[in-house]
Amino acid sequence: MTEQYQMQVIGYIESPYKQKFAIPRQPGLIAAAHGKLVLRAPFADETFVRGIEAFSHLWLLFVFHETADKGWSPLVRPPRLGGNVRKGVFATRATFRPNPIGMSVVKLEGVSQKKGQIELLISGLDLLHGTPILDIKPYLPYSDALPHASGGFADAAPETTMTVSFSEDAAGFCQRQRAYPDLQNLIEQVLKQDPRPSYKKQRQSEQHYGMTLYNFNIKWTVNGEHNHVTEILQLPE
Ligand code: SAM
Repeated sequence: MTEQYQMQVIGYIESPYKQKFAIPRQPGLIAAAHGKLVLRAPFADETFVRGIEAFSHLWLLFVFHETADKGWSPLVRPPRLGGNVRKGVFATRATFRPNPIGMSVVKLEGVSQKKGQIELLISGLDLLHGTPILDIKPYLPYSDALPHASGGFADAAPETTMTVSFSEDAAGFCQRQRAYPDLQNLIEQVLKQDPRPSYKKQRQSEQHYGMTLYNFNIKWTVNGEHNHVTEILQLPE
């Protein structure tokens, strides 16, 4: 019996998320996250995606490339449970797994074909920039949507009571970014999800944080349940 299989990368993700910090835990939580799946040769050909526009959503199977060489353990501590309770790795969607394969449903916004390049324009992704994609499958609502299924310890989307405001400078910066018309929305949606690690959420005093989205360094403070975006800086390409 064959116990090892070789896979080939069919494309790579271009994502606003340039670092793991601030990526949502699952797809669909941040609608303003827009990205691309850029197919690579020999898959960068119209024939491979013919008919795909008929589907509103796609399953992407990918490699957790950033953490693939960091090992795994049969028990993991899901952040959803505060990081204190252990569950079997196969009872979780943890990134550290025997085969570092992830799966995400994303919205298909369009297909772009130019200069011999095929790009699938997607949104709602939870993928790091540069994520290697192993396969694409259309989402089939009649079979994949199971509204009465039990979601175990993650039965519903995380509740969020966080609010977000922007300094005048930060709001003005966002409005000037013609190439990223949804930037302010994206920042707001990301901060509403409260990307801080659980142990920091208990802190009472005002805390300062920073994250990178696209080529922007975003600085904000957290006071109780409120995020205030103080400054946004453009990083070198
Ligand atoms: N939806 C996928 C799944 O269920 O297989 C991913 C779930 S996993 C809990 C989501 C986390 O994976 C994100 O918060 C991010 O930190 C991490 N992640 C995304 N892309 C990654 C990559 N290429 N390598 C390592 N970690 C990644």
